[in-house]
Amino acid sequence: MVVLVTGANGQLGQSLQFIAPNYPKIEFVFCNSSTLDITNLNNVKQIFNHYKPNYCINAAAYTAVDKAESEPDKAHLINVIGAKNVAQVCKEHNTVLLHISTDFVFDGNKKAVTLSAVEVPYSENDIPNPTGVYGQTKLDGEIEIQKTWEKHFIIRTSWVYSQFGNNFMKTMLRLASERDTLSVVNDQIGTPTNAVDLAECLIKIIIFSSLSFGEGRGEAFGIYNFSNEGQCSWYDFAKKIFEINNKNIDLKPIPTSSFPTPAKRPKYSVLDKTKIKSTFGIQIKSWKERLKA
Ligand code: NDP
Repeated sequence: MVVLVTGANGQLGQSLQFIAPNYPKIEFVFCNSSTLDITNLNNVKQIFNHYKPNYCINAAAYTAVDKAESEPDKAHLINVIGAKNVAQVCKEHNTVLLHISTDFVFDGNKKAVTLSAVEVPYSENDIPNPTGVYGQTKLDGEIEIQKTWEKHFIIRTSWVYSQFGNNFMKTMLRLASERDTLSVVNDQIGTPTNAVDLAECLIKIIIFSSLSFGEGRGEAFGIYNFSNEGQCSWYDFAKKIFEINNKNIDLKPIPTSSFPTPAKRPKYSVLDKTKIKSTFGIQIKSWKERLKA
């Protein structure tokens, strides 16, 4: 079984490279942005003609949430046209596509339909309503994939961090070595996701899907949520990062209004993982446990 990974130098791409040796029966083909540019249809065709993958994990994306506000065309090109190109070539080769999307497709205003009207996690069926360019391009990319090729799994995830690339955890650790005090927002709630757990989840879906071909389980294609378990604010996340790493820093909680950013972010974007757990038998660990790891 050949699994082709785009965007192989990103956090998720490198996490997939990290776990690949645990799956000797899978032949992985890792393509970074210089060997495979997903915005170049001919380049995608050429690579697929050569490797003929059974599965493609599209880990390539424009992920600079704030910068996207001033670079909407670039974000659209990669997250919408790029995703569409990959889906089109997957269709030509009957390759199953696993595409990664985001909690930022939601506006964060979902409330329970009860008197208490508390926030409740987003399910796959909730109506997206992105608050920024990045979220909009990721949603439009999902829509292009759905229109182009039915054999797809779209996995929405949130707050991804890892030992690889740039992410919140690494930024906090860097700042802890440069400063004595730090303020972090405490009124945006979500769930951190260890990129290695996301990588493992994708491989489990591939194995499940490859074993169930011909058994009429094609209906498993569609949208799924994945993050670690639990929820926290960015402040809670930072506090735990410092605690685990024995960093002594004066950490202050602040409201979003005190830390304006170009892109508006959802206030609450916890994802409900019931569907991915029950469909693929995936067990998910808490964000605190996985941050420690
Ligand atoms: P990264 O930004 O770490 O990696 C993205 C990769 O995509 C980079 O290696 C980049 O290469 C590559 N890339 C950019 N443009 C192209 C292109 N035209 N062709 C091929 N490759 C390209 O992202 P993550 O690994 O963190 O994210 C993986 C997925 O998860 C993305 O779809 C993202 O939207 C989604 N996601 C991420 C979250 C997060 O917190 N990071 C949260 C929710 C969802 P180069 O560096 O050379 O440009």
